[in-house]
This record gives sequence, C-alpha cells and structure tokens, in this order.
Amino acid sequence: MPESDLIVRAMANDASFRVIATRSSLTAKGTVQSQSPDGKQSNPLLGALGDLCTGVLLIRETMAPQLRVQGIVKNKKTKHTLVADSRPDGNTRGLIAANNATGEFSLDGALLQLMRTLHDGRLHQGLIELDGGASISSALTAYMYTSEQIESMIRVETILEDGVVTGAGGYLIQLLPEVGKGPVMLMEQRHADLAHLRELVDKPDFTPKTIVEELLYGMPMTWLEESKIRYGCWCSRESVLSSLASLPRKEVEELARDEEVLEIDCDYCHEEYQIRPIELQGLLTPN
Ligand SMILES: [Zn+2]
Repeated sequence: MPESDLIVRAMANDASFRVIATRSSLTAKGTVQSQSPDGKQSNPLLGALGDLCTGVLLIRETMAPQLRVQGIVKNKKTKHTLVADSRPDGNTRGLIAANNATGEFSLDGALLQLMRTLHDGRLHQGLIELDGGASISSALTAYMYTSEQIESMIRVETILEDGVVTGAGGYLIQLLPEVGKGPVMLMEQRHADLAHLRELVDKPDFTPKTIVEELLYGMPMTWLEESKIRYGCWCSRESVLSSLASLPRKEVEELARDEEVLEIDCDYCHEEYQIRPIELQGLLTPN
C-alpha cells in the first residue's frame, strides 16, 4: 500500500466532463480499524463504511472542497448507523453505531443523508431512500442528481481481507452543462467498462491518475490541483465538553456532583478523555 492517499482532478478541455478520482486505501483502512479493531464485524458493514468514506471525499472535492461534508447511512430496520465525516484539510473519520442492532447490516431500506456547510455557514442537506439493489455508489449518484442537480457517474470500491481494508478508491464523473449526447454515451460505456475498478484498487501500485486517463482517453484534458487525504480525527477536550453540555441539565448536575473522574471515549477514534467533575460545573452556567 502506498504511504499516503491522494485525490486528483482533471477536466476535458471542451468543458464536457470533470473527473475526480481517489486512492483512499489508508483513509478507509484507518476508519474501518477505528470502528472494528478486531476485524470481526461483517464485511457488508465494514465495506459500506469504507465506501461511504470514499464517496464523501469525492463529493466534498466536487461540491465543497473548502468545506466539511458528512454522510450518514441509517437502516432503521437493522438499527445500524454509519457516518463518514471529511474536512477540507483532508482529515476524514467515520463511525458505526450498532446499539441493539438486529441481524446483518443491509442497505435495503436504508436512508442516505448528506450534509455540507455552505459558504455562509448554513447547512445544506439532502436525503435519499435506498432500495434492495442499491449500493453506496448508486445512492451517491442519486443524491447528486436529486439534491444537488448534478448529473454524475460514481463508483467506489473497498477491498477487505479478514475485516481489514487492503485497498479502496473511486471516482466521480461530473457531466458539465455543455456536454453533448455523443460524448455522454461514450462516457457511459467507459463507466461501464470500469466495473473492474476493484482489480485496479487491489493493486499495490494503484494510482487514481490511471482512472482519469482511462475515462478521458483521447480527449484533450487539463490536470487540476491534487491533494492528500488521510484518516484522522479532530476531537479535543473542548469538543468532548461541548457534547456533554448538550445533555439535559439534570444529568450534567448529577455528574458534576459525583466525585469520580469521568472517562469519555471519542466515538470516532476512541481516544479517552478524563473529565474532572469541576470542569462540568463550568457547563452549569445559569439558564
Ligand atoms: Zn477522536
């Protein structure tokens, strides 16, 4: 596996397509490991988390490279929730919540929600309901069309061996407004041909540039900026304290009265924070 993850972008010179592609192997690996250190969770669950991380990265790079994007997959039937969270500095993290989960995770009937911050600080969000044949790739494509009015073709892949990610990557082809019918048919064919993305991503020397070159083959094109991405959590004492502050006042009062030091885990990276009761009293400012 290469030492760092990469996301690249390119555009066809005739303004027909923009392509964003990534090798996200280490990002998906770190995220999956943070939620399943023993690798014992099921492959469909861990694979969906890896795919969601890669997908959220691609959508952030397309829609809001300077802003944060979060993706949430929630299956109310099986009681699984997956979150992928990506920041403009390239740090990306994720979590699996499976309290009282019943049976195997599946995307059938799940909801995909994407949230991104707009430049004025407001939150833009969209929701898609997934059906039986859905994948994270098809759900993200549907989200882009219905919620962002962007026509795209998306494919993400996560390779797992014994619960450990050995490769991950994906691409997003954005159809720009000027694109003609002929080029769209050609691109649909190339997108279909890239069904072998799994094999590419599985190779140790895989680079996302290969994907772009394959998709834009024979078209005059320009490389745009590329950036590094990684698994990383940005939790802090402050973020842990502020999440405690959102508990009902009575509960905070009880915790603050207690003599014992609270040990609180970050849900994303499982870093442990020790909070002294005295620190909680600071949260109890008069209403
Ligand atoms: Zn953390």
